[in-house]
Amino acid sequence: MASRYDAIVGGGSVAGLTFASEAAKRGLNVLLLEEHEEFGEPEKCDGLVSLRGLRMYGYGPIGKSIQALVNKGVIHSPMGSSLTVNATALEVVVLDRSMYDKQIAQRAYERGANLRAGERVKHVVTEKDGVKVEGKEVYEGRYFVDATGPASSPREGIIPAAKYEIEGEWVEEGKVEVFLNQEKYPGFFAWVIPYGGTKAKVGASGFGINAFKALDEFLAGRRHKIIRKIAAPIYVGGPSERFVEGRTIFAGESAGQVKPTTAGGIMSSIAGSVIAARWVAEAIRSDDPALLTNYQRDWTSRFGREMQSMKRLRGVFEKLNNKELDSIVATLSTPKLLSKLSSTDFDFHATALLSSLGIVGVMKLARVVASAEAKQLLRGFS
Ligand SMILES: Cc1cc2nc3c(=O)[nH]c(=O)nc-3n(C[C@H](O)[C@H](O)[C@H](O)COP(=O)(O)OP(=O)(O)OC[C@H]3O[C@@H](n4cnc5c(N)ncnc54)[C@H](O)[C@@H]3O)c2cc1C
Repeated sequence: MASRYDAIVGGGSVAGLTFASEAAKRGLNVLLLEEHEEFGEPEKCDGLVSLRGLRMYGYGPIGKSIQALVNKGVIHSPMGSSLTVNATALEVVVLDRSMYDKQIAQRAYERGANLRAGERVKHVVTEKDGVKVEGKEVYEGRYFVDATGPASSPREGIIPAAKYEIEGEWVEEGKVEVFLNQEKYPGFFAWVIPYGGTKAKVGASGFGINAFKALDEFLAGRRHKIIRKIAAPIYVGGPSERFVEGRTIFAGESAGQVKPTTAGGIMSSIAGSVIAARWVAEAIRSDDPALLTNYQRDWTSRFGREMQSMKRLRGVFEKLNNKELDSIVATLSTPKLLSKLSSTDFDFHATALLSSLGIVGVMKLARVVASAEAKQLLRGFS
């Protein structure tokens, strides 16, 4: 047995790499194992994120890892009406996730973390004072950090998704689009995220659908050339109940640190890892594993309320049919509301929407939906 690590991380995407970087910064001896041969690959994520959020945790992207700026977000109703939010003040960008992940890996490496790509965590055994993690060999550590992503997310809330990178003359730079349709994409939507010139990341997801078929149908009327195709599940089930189990700490998507509305998880996963590393370091310094409970407390105090609101909004959304979605889009499309939304926080969009609507606005939405359940859920917000 070569050495005993303070923390052994399984998974080398944003959450795992950020944890390794932060733990190494705090002087911990950390080992990270990533099953793929290259950090950042295969790139599944669209990289739509707010710069503000990333900078807050010290992980703002550098140079060319920003592929594009977003200046508006358009939501299309099933019947084709739409609402447009001016996003120029929201500092939303599209990241080259592969490059961004490599930047975090580089930083973790420079801080002294041991990073190993091409090594899968096969098995973890928890003992009284530590863990044994089996990769290509067996490593000993005090704690195991599970950052293996959706594979370890709570199973409920995982939806199949298909994503293509394409080129098409109809792609409009800076304009992110969401297409709602409960028959085609039940419980989710199709999306277009431009990332430079006429290139876009397009995707479709929904409960119980063949996501590739849905995406092909979406693209059928839009001339395009496919650059690459990716299949990846998204997670919308909300934070898990426990972020720490014995000597295992869950970070990022494996802790469900993902928005239940859009499945965006870059910023909240980075935040999770920054907070987790802080408390793992404290637990080791004080020789007191009980301090780890502060990780969930701190993350929840920042994101708990928003995640709960997003989950409740998802609950309403899942109850709506296409006709009701049309009415909702029409009701939300007032200059006053759109103007308020254009100066809110992208990472806290549920809170932003609810506070911009106010009680009167929420009750107005409750009036336009027919479903008794959705009405009831909406009234619960007032
Ligand atoms: C199609 C799609 C589009 C998305 N778009 C956005 C977006 O635009 N904006 C946004 O904020 N979020 C987006 N997300 C979500 C975002 O990608 C995730 O929330 C974020 O990457 C979570 O990071 P993570 O490190 O927790 O997990 P992941 O990124 O899932 O990484 C887990 C890592 O663990 C590795 N691994 C798994 N098992 C093992 C093992 N046994 N041993 C070693 N390594 C292992 C995997 O190879 C992987 O590298 C998207 C997700 C998908 C699927």
